[in-house]
Amino acid sequence: TEPLVRVQNLKMHFPIYGGLLQRKVGDVKAVDGISFDIYEGETLGLVGESGCGKSTVGRAVLRLYDITDGAIRIDGDDIATADAGKLRSMRPLMQMIFQDPQASLNPRMTVADIIAEPLREHVKMSKIEREDRVLELMDQVGLNKEFANRYPHEFSGGQRQRIGIARALALNPKFIVCDEPIAALDVSIQAQVVNLLEELQDRLGLTYLFISHDLSMVRHIADRVAVMYLGQIAELAPRAELYEAPLHPYTQALLSAVPEPDPNIEEQVERIILTGDVPSPSNPPQGCNFCTRCPQVMEICKTVEPQFQEVQPGRFVACHLHQIAENAASEAHKSIQ
Ligand code: SF4
Ligand code: MG
Repeated sequence: TEPLVRVQNLKMHFPIYGGLLQRKVGDVKAVDGISFDIYEGETLGLVGESGCGKSTVGRAVLRLYDITDGAIRIDGDDIATADAGKLRSMRPLMQMIFQDPQASLNPRMTVADIIAEPLREHVKMSKIEREDRVLELMDQVGLNKEFANRYPHEFSGGQRQRIGIARALALNPKFIVCDEPIAALDVSIQAQVVNLLEELQDRLGLTYLFISHDLSMVRHIADRVAVMYLGQIAELAPRAELYEAPLHPYTQALLSAVPEPDPNIEEQVERIILTGDVPSPSNPPQGCNFCTRCPQVMEICKTVEPQFQEVQPGRFVACHLHQIAENAASEAHKSIQ
């Protein structure tokens, strides 16, 4: 089956200006050639430390930025090159839930007006129809309909995120980018919001790109997981494989820092401590971009960039420890088709 979302070799470079004349002196390679598919009804988790480029990916996929290079298709439509009119007509299909509901909700609008805003912009309907739709949306996300005329500051953080979710659902989207949707919330209500997102996914057939730095949370919600480091995807795999047997040394290090949730499992993974800082995305290392910190670095890693390859069915990794020769790779590809 065709994926709902297909991203190929996406690059997002931002110019850096400097000197007396503010000439362009370089590029921040925030996203540097990444590819992934998302299938209808699934959740792809996109994880990595802050600054790795994951939020830029989320915004680029919805074309909130112009694209430096690469292809993006959503539901058969070319997003990367779409003009303003085409993008506007596609907005209902694809929406975003933001990290900080406080910052993304207009404090001077009532909840009802906030949720109705996309309807007013995109759908021809009467005032009564719109009111009915707003109340239906409030119900769907578990907000008390009697509060429709209240303002965002009168709600708790969790309730404000529900308002953001209701607004994102107003136009019946198929695809939603959830950018750290619970990171700003109290731990005690994070699970409620995640459960709501899962329930809505099942009920409405939604497809999610779920961006998070929290590997435990992603393990709970994602069907497949992509791990980003310094603007690239190090590894992408079905959830169980990734968490139980990570292939990329970076994924291994990240997961070794997550405590084993099941106390009955005595064998805790030995913690892998990474040394050194993450290099600047304006000046990434030659060869493998993880070579300055990798505990398993080899000579070849410092000069030759490993290809992001499907090394087992459904498992992609960019690492010389797992590279397969071109011919073998294409044979392996054929055999799974
Ligand atoms: Fe480490 Fe080399 Fe693999 Fe990069 S390619 S992750 S440096 S072993
Ligand atoms: Mg799910």
